Amino acid sequence: MPKRDPSSVWISVDMEGIGGVAAYSHVMMSGVEYERARTWMTKEVNAAIEGAASSGAARFCVNDSHGNMHNLYADEVDPRAELLVGTAKPWSMGQGIDGGYDTCFFIGYHGRAGHPRAVLDHTYASRAIYECRLNGTPVGETTLNVYLAGYFDASVTLVSGDGATCREARALVPNCVTVKTKDATGRFSAKMLHPQRVQELLQVAAAKAIDVARDTKPTKPKARNDIELVFLTSAMADMAELIPGTRRSGPRAVAYASRDYLELYKALLVMVRIAPSAVPPEQ
Ligand SMILES: [Zn+2]
Repeated sequence: MPKRDPSSVWISVDMEGIGGVAAYSHVMMSGVEYERARTWMTKEVNAAIEGAASSGAARFCVNDSHGNMHNLYADEVDPRAELLVGTAKPWSMGQGIDGGYDTCFFIGYHGRAGHPRAVLDHTYASRAIYECRLNGTPVGETTLNVYLAGYFDASVTLVSGDGATCREARALVPNCVTVKTKDATGRFSAKMLHPQRVQELLQVAAAKAIDVARDTKPTKPKARNDIELVFLTSAMADMAELIPGTRRSGPRAVAYASRDYLELYKALLVMVRIAPSAVPPEQ
């Protein structure tokens, strides 16, 4: 494992939890508000970097973690950061997390698939995943990636997104600094803070998160974990079940157990990617 660098931050940035974002028109590349949402996303990343730098952080890696993973305006991202961008990244939202970083920030994150009150809730792929369960409990990307950080000996000290996301983060990392950007009023609607206000709060929160990181232990995954994906259709589970080591745990569900969390995470990514191949191409 690379040497731990105490002044380094790895940032994963998704889009659904960004201030101002509530609908598909914001998060889909074809959406009429997409270009504007990219700007807000880029500004939130920069606010977090600025805040962290003011508390002594000096090395930054930003992993663009939404959709096709090339949403940020590369030339507008703070030049102190390296940017992980492009499709397809083998480790997806977790790309680069193994680079020896001390702490991680999750910006613009969102609630898990099936959460009753979360903006644009999903887990990895809305077109395939109905629910994702870790050791029997429904979880979202926040939880899955907090444990991935822990696997690489990094803590997660800043999470931003809607109310559901912030609660998921604090349940797992009690002293995690959270910035609530909005409260869901429905899956595609929210009562939200002004994007500029969110950026201001993020800068302050990131500065605090670096201080918090000095006393926050990584959240380690359990010694043995079981992940179960419930797919939208049985045909998707048929495909996921082809992966060696999986087991069919239900009519639409496939599970995978491992003592190695990274292996489990990779199995999750493979299942997420192979399941949509069950949908026949349009004629
Ligand atoms: Zn996401």
